Amino acid sequence: MRLSSLFMPTLKENPADAQVTSHRLMLRAGLIRQTSAGIYIWLPMGLRVLRKIEQIVREEQDRAGAQEILMPTIQPAELWQESGRYEAYGKEMLRITDRHDREMLYGPTNEEMVTDLFRSNIKSYKDLPLMLYHIQWKFRDEIRPRFGIMRGREFLMKDNYSFDLNEEAGRISYNKMYVAYLRTFARLGLVAIPVRADTGAIGGDLSHEFQILAETGESTLYYDKAIEDFDLASLTGDIDADTIEKLQNLYAMEEEKHDADNCPVAPENLRRAKGIEVGHIFFFGTKYSESMNARVTGPDGNLVPVEMGSYGVGVSRLVGALIEANHDENGIIWPEVVAPYKVGLINLRIKDEACTAACGDIYQRLTDKSVDVLYDDRDMGAGGKFADMDLSGLPWQLIVGPRGLKNGLVELKNRATGDRQELTLEDAINMLGA
Ligand code: ATP
Ligand code: MG
Repeated sequence: MRLSSLFMPTLKENPADAQVTSHRLMLRAGLIRQTSAGIYIWLPMGLRVLRKIEQIVREEQDRAGAQEILMPTIQPAELWQESGRYEAYGKEMLRITDRHDREMLYGPTNEEMVTDLFRSNIKSYKDLPLMLYHIQWKFRDEIRPRFGIMRGREFLMKDNYSFDLNEEAGRISYNKMYVAYLRTFARLGLVAIPVRADTGAIGGDLSHEFQILAETGESTLYYDKAIEDFDLASLTGDIDADTIEKLQNLYAMEEEKHDADNCPVAPENLRRAKGIEVGHIFFFGTKYSESMNARVTGPDGNLVPVEMGSYGVGVSRLVGALIEANHDENGIIWPEVVAPYKVGLINLRIKDEACTAACGDIYQRLTDKSVDVLYDDRDMGAGGKFADMDLSGLPWQLIVGPRGLKNGLVELKNRATGDRQELTLEDAINMLGA
């Protein structure tokens, strides 16, 4: 992509209404624009990141054996009346009336709809276990939308639903998702602490929230520092049952549920930190299958309500969370796996024939190697180009100027470390194309 034609409206000044770094940088770097409170347009640079995160989330869902579907955003009210949540959900639910006066709603989540899908199509335990997920926009009329897309009203979520014959099988599905989440966040280079979100009572619900540590987080957590030894951000390989069990047995709790007097962790081993919730997994048994009558015949021929869990990832919130975890005073620092482009190619002098020819050549050859390159071909001063490239956070900057080029050299800058090296054009292409 050539920067001269890219729609990337950047801002020099910090927007006054943005309180947290990620919101400021997303506006300044031209990733999003607000259309009304908590509702945003995703611009090209933001959308590319969103899509890359979505794809990593998808791959780990698929790997865990879940099947992707796509449920609609608009749902009929009847399903929610059946489960009893139509009234209970309150003002966070956006209610809509169609032209025939039928009550509809913009889905804040999909338990009811997926339970309905299940009960009309699955009748036997032989079709279990089953996990169905989708990645779809949700609407929740949050009382205080804030921090940009991190607490929006319209937001993109991956939500998965598991169906099993009995509780034991349900817990196996739950642990599959637990592992999928560890892997997903590790692939994104994030430390996401699995925090116990239920009461811990035997036979009750089972639930974990995945929290990224960040100063600007809305929740406060307490956790055993032994969790840090798991090196969560590097846990991308196979994760065995032993590791899961050890991790699940370590203490991590939100402030509201933390009881200082009865905490099992010695004070010197207890960490307190702010967190951003990026995922939530939940095994709730027969809550919806009872009320909505979703039953299957078991091996003994008896009808039993199906055991269910639901598993959410805040895909759009992750864009903000990633920026909170990866930035400096000059802008965003994207991890390579989600960067909108891998390389920012900076032509220091467009009017210099040699520079522009070399850049054209580099651009073509990297593109041929399937490397995503953003080529700054604008006719403007070097200072502004460097500032924009730092702001937009591409992992590599390849700088081409007339002086170096006379000796066949270009400069490669690593955005994260700030390291710069001079190398030949050939070496640069080989390195970036590897
Ligand atoms: P929160 O406590 O932040 O309101 P929640 O418990 O309501 O979250 P879930 O219903 O579990 O969230 O939704 C799954 C995931 O969707 C959350 O872990 C979060 O990452 C994301 N999410 C929830 N609400 C929002 C929102 N308003 N804007 C962006 N992402 C959200
Ligand atoms: Mg909420």
